[in-house]
Amino acid sequence: MFLKSMELMGFKSFADRTHIDFSPGISALLGPNGCGKSNIVDAVKWVLGEQSTKNMRALKMEDVIFNGTVKRKALNVAEVTLTISNETNILEIDAPEIEIKRRLYRNGDSEYFINNTVVRLKELRELFFDTGIGKTAYSILEQGKIDQILSSRPEERRYLFEEAAGITKYKLKGIEAAKKLEKTRDNIKQVQNILTEVS
Ligand code: ATP
Repeated sequence: MFLKSMELMGFKSFADRTHIDFSPGISALLGPNGCGKSNIVDAVKWVLGEQSTKNMRALKMEDVIFNGTVKRKALNVAEVTLTISNETNILEIDAPEIEIKRRLYRNGDSEYFINNTVVRLKELRELFFDTGIGKTAYSILEQGKIDQILSSRPEERRYLFEEAAGITKYKLKGIEAAKKLEKTRDNIKQVQNILTEVS
């Protein structure tokens, strides 16, 4: 599995549709200060479901939409697409290539897509569980992240090991199942109370 290409349109400084191809192995982004290198990394995090404006270096999420220049009007929509090679079927969709997309309108509406089908953020996140990708995983190591990992609390650090070991998905499913069980217990109690009252 590797990131084959990405396309940005209306995202931060990328007003025009911009297509970037990556090859297997190491790719480097080079350019003068302020040319948009970090914006590309922001775009990868964003399409993977990042919800924190701080992590997007923005005050509000709409700030990721191209906000215009003296020569050019601001845009009303930002869109980022990642094309991921899935030949080894690490992502649980039976397709050799997977395209994920996030779109945000200036009125706050947002959409996520997997292979051009609208999905909920939850589904997009679940696709990347246990792959090391995903917004809280370790595939994006920015400046200071290693220090942060080394100085984090043991429980926080354990999350990274769980992700690498491939158990995050099962742990989250376990938590969801426990919640459902709790709800079902409450329902049974209520039914028993009603039965006691009517008998
Ligand atoms: P450095 O090498 O200094 O870290 P960089 O190449 O990583 O720079 P970025 O931080 O990616 O640069 O890009 C900064 C540029 O992006 C700034 O010129 C800023 O004005 C522009 N920018 C950020 N958000 C928007 C937006 N919503 N609309 C238009 N331009 C934006």
